[in-house]
Amino acid sequence: TEFKSPPLDEHLIKNIALAGYKNPTPVQKYSIPIVANGRDLMACAQTGSGKTGGFLFPILSQSFLQGPSSAMPQNTGGYGRRKALPTALILAPTRELVSQIFDESRKFAYRSWVRPCVVYGGADIGSQLRQIDLGCDLLVATPGRLVDLIERGRISLANIKYLVLDEADRMLDMGFEPQIRRIVEQEDMPNVNDRQTLMFSATFPRDIQMLARDFLKDYIFLSV
Ligand code: AMP
Repeated sequence: TEFKSPPLDEHLIKNIALAGYKNPTPVQKYSIPIVANGRDLMACAQTGSGKTGGFLFPILSQSFLQGPSSAMPQNTGGYGRRKALPTALILAPTRELVSQIFDESRKFAYRSWVRPCVVYGGADIGSQLRQIDLGCDLLVATPGRLVDLIERGRISLANIKYLVLDEADRMLDMGFEPQIRRIVEQEDMPNVNDRQTLMFSATFPRDIQMLARDFLKDYIFLSV
């Protein structure tokens, strides 16, 4: 098997070929059609399984087809401040992981209108804000820093179509559950019926099952 259009967009297939990927990994093989069909997904997959492509490819593909909706940050009028309105949000536990996901996003969004951004804690917030102000369609974030940016009024989740929780078990182990709930339960975050939610986790203990119950709708469970 190889990467095919449909369900993936032709331009994305070209970018995948440029990256040297020939065939989908098992998690990609199963997750791409599920996500492309608009379904919520709970996937148990390890690091190294290709799970990043498993969520990025169908999200980028759908985004390429749908075209820009909120490409530029919106001027909200308050003191000339702009507010970014990403359409895809990917939460992951660490700076290393969000940076990797961001690098992959840039690679596969090459020559498209989609502008990926990355924010994480423990680094200068000013340069992250300047990056967001240049346009942010797909945001990769650690939970704590995202809460900070939301509180500063610099990011609105009102346009989110895709929400991904990557390495959800590690995020809970690191104590991020309050921040994650804060983000997903934001007033302007579209509710579970108006967004597509994907969760990836190496394990599926009770606390992850609860998150899946709270954040996903009628989801497909995939274990690879
Ligand atoms: P991940 O599990 O998403 O962190 O991916 C693990 C590694 O496999 C990364 O270095 C990816 O660049 C690589 N990779 C992911 N999908 C494929 C694929 N379909 N073909 C070849 N390499 C891949």
